[in-house]
Formats: sequence, structure tokens, C-alpha cells
Amino acid sequence: MKIYLDNAATTKMSKTAIDAMYPYMDTVYGNPSSLHSAGQAAAEALAEARRQISACIGASPEEITFTSGGSESDNQAILSAARIGERKGKRHIISTAFEHHAVLHTLNRLEKEGFEITLLDVHENGIIAPEQVKTALRDDTCLVTVMFANNEIGTIQPIAEIGKICRAGNVLFHTDGVQAAGHLHINVNEQNIDMLSLSAHKFHGPKGIGILYARKGIPLTTLIEGGAQEQGRRAGTENIPAIMGMAAALCESCSRMEDAAKRMCLLRDKLIDGLSHIPHSILNGDATNRLPGNVNFCFEGIEGESLLLLLDDRGICASSGSACTSGSLEPSHVLLALGRIHDIAHGSLRLTLSEDTTEEQILYTVKSVTEAVEYLRGISPVWRDLVSGKKEFILR
Ligand SMILES: *Cc1c(COP(=O)(O)O)cnc(C)c1O
Repeated sequence: MKIYLDNAATTKMSKTAIDAMYPYMDTVYGNPSSLHSAGQAAAEALAEARRQISACIGASPEEITFTSGGSESDNQAILSAARIGERKGKRHIISTAFEHHAVLHTLNRLEKEGFEITLLDVHENGIIAPEQVKTALRDDTCLVTVMFANNEIGTIQPIAEIGKICRAGNVLFHTDGVQAAGHLHINVNEQNIDMLSLSAHKFHGPKGIGILYARKGIPLTTLIEGGAQEQGRRAGTENIPAIMGMAAALCESCSRMEDAAKRMCLLRDKLIDGLSHIPHSILNGDATNRLPGNVNFCFEGIEGESLLLLLDDRGICASSGSACTSGSLEPSHVLLALGRIHDIAHGSLRLTLSEDTTEEQILYTVKSVTEAVEYLRGISPVWRDLVSGKKEFILR
């Protein structure tokens, strides 16, 4: 059995998206900047993709910029807001401690340039309150950036309310919506969003392509100098096949969103229920206000990496918050932001479902994780100390 439960890392491309790409590698291969008919055919396709994508999020086509993905969109949105701000002498930015690194590292860079960054504390349930934003706003705040839904613990933020507060305070509001797209309703007007980042490979589109929505009138700073593509907001010949695949994937996932979300929530809750029977474990993030496909647990006395390897042997692809794979032994900054201590955060497991996940897979996963945790605890000296009372349990 092969079970892919790492859909927050990336998703399988849908057949619809693959089919939508093919003609633009085969027959319609012109450069959309070319004046001849081959170029114009590509330009028309590009315009149609922009229309479709803007319709999915309640925007206008000219407010959509194509980028290389979520990371680039986050970088460009934040840097653009910073440049706008500093022209007015505003150098204060509000964000949260559990953002994606594409946001946090961009903020670090601005901090070195002299910007002041306020990272809001996250409650233990992984959700920030709109009032926290209101309290943190200052006369020199130029940007609030708070993610729509968290990629590790799946919690959903009160985006429309935060946007409303920003609008009232005349401050730009950016949200990283990468995990939300295709799973949650997004409408930039209803939700008072000024800038929004999306990434195709998180909603069954191709990798290396994304979207930056910026409300009309917000000047974007280009990260890449060159030609006048994307209204001068991003130089370089457009990746038409990927853009067509992305548009098809977004339309498809938005159209089937409600049914898929209902089904995924049922399976998610079945998985949460099954894993919560493992003693000395805890669910990370709010139990209900979370993405339809996100499950994240900490197991006391467990190394996340060992658990991942055991699960992989059983055909289950999962993820752990601790980033040992990237060469550091630092546990997840998201789990630390929730107040989990290092030892507990190290024993985390993230399982993220897709529309294709079945009940059979969920039952097999509950059984496999339960057995793997039991096995690892059985050979762990730390666990022996906990059981013998030499050390105290942290999780009940
Ligand atoms: C995956 C992800 C990104 C990065 O997107 P890429 O397209 O891989 O650059 C940014 N933010 C969140 C929340 C993500 O999950």
C-alpha cells in the first residue's frame, strides 16, 4: 500500500491540469510578447488564464501577477509594501511568529535594513485574535502580514476581521493563502485582502508557478529586472504551460471545494480520533478551526524523524515539524510558537490529506502510527525514564 499524506508539502498534479498544459508545450508554443500569430495565440491563452484565476478569488485580471510560486509572491508582496511604507517614513511591520519562512526571512532582511517588526504571540490553539492586530497597530505601521491557514498545524486565521482592522487603520494587509487555496473560500474583496500569495503545486497544479494578487493601485516592486512582462512587475518570458496548468487546477479545486472539504473533514476527524487514543500525545492546533486535511500530533518520548522512517517503511509518506532534514536540529518554529517545549516539539507528526484519501488509508494509518509509536517507545531510554518515574511526563 502506498499512502501519500504529505499534501501540505506538495500535491499530485490533477489530470485536468496536466491536460491543460500539454498544448502549450506542443502546438501553442509562441512567446506572448511576439507580435506574430503564434505569439498572439499564447498571449490570448495567458489573458484567459488570468481571467479564470481572478474570477476564483474575486479579483480583476490586471490585479494578478504570475510568479515562480508562494515564496516569490511572499517576498515580493512584503518588499513592495516596505518600499511603499518607507517613502512615507513608515517602517513598522506586524506579523506572527508562525508564518512560513518565506515571510519570516523576508522580514528578517527588512529588520536589518532598519524596519521594526512586531511578531504577534500565537495562542496555544494556533490562532491569533483580531484585537491583537488592533493593539499592535502604530502610526508608522506600513504592513500587516498574517497567513490565511498554517502549513504545519492547519489553523485558520480570522482573515476578514484582520483585513477590516487594517483597512480602518489605512495599513496594507497581505496574507499568505498558499494552504488555503482550493480548501477554503477566498474572496479578496469580502475578506479585505490587499495582497495574496498562492502557489499552484499546493492545489494539484505544477511546481514553480504561483500568483501574487495586489489590489489595484498598489505599486509592486519587481524582484527581477528585464523586459516589461507582467506590467513591469516581473521580467522574464511567462511560463505559459505552467500558468495554464495552474489556472485549470485552481478552477477545478475551487469548483469541487465544498464536497471535497466535507469528505476530508470527516476523514481528518477520524484520523484525529484514532491517534488521540495513543497515550501521552497531543493534537497541535485548534481541533475544529483547521484545514480540512490537516492533522498534527506530538508524541512524548518520540523522535519525529524515526517515526517518519518507520512509517515510510509501511508505505506512508508523512512529515515532521522538526527540520533535521534541512541540516538543523531545531524543532518547528510553529510548534515552539504554540508554547511546546523542545522535547515535545521534536516528537511531532504531520499528516495532510487530499481529495483522494480513502477511509481504508486512514484506518491503516491509525494502526501503523499507533504501532510505530509503541515500538519506538519500547526501545527508547527516555521513555524508560518516564515510565520508571525518573522523569516526569509532560503530556497526560
Ligand atoms: C509551500 C508554501 C509556501 C512556498 O510556496 P512555494 O511555491 O513552494 O515557493 C509558502 N507559504 C506556505 C504557507 C506554504 O505552504
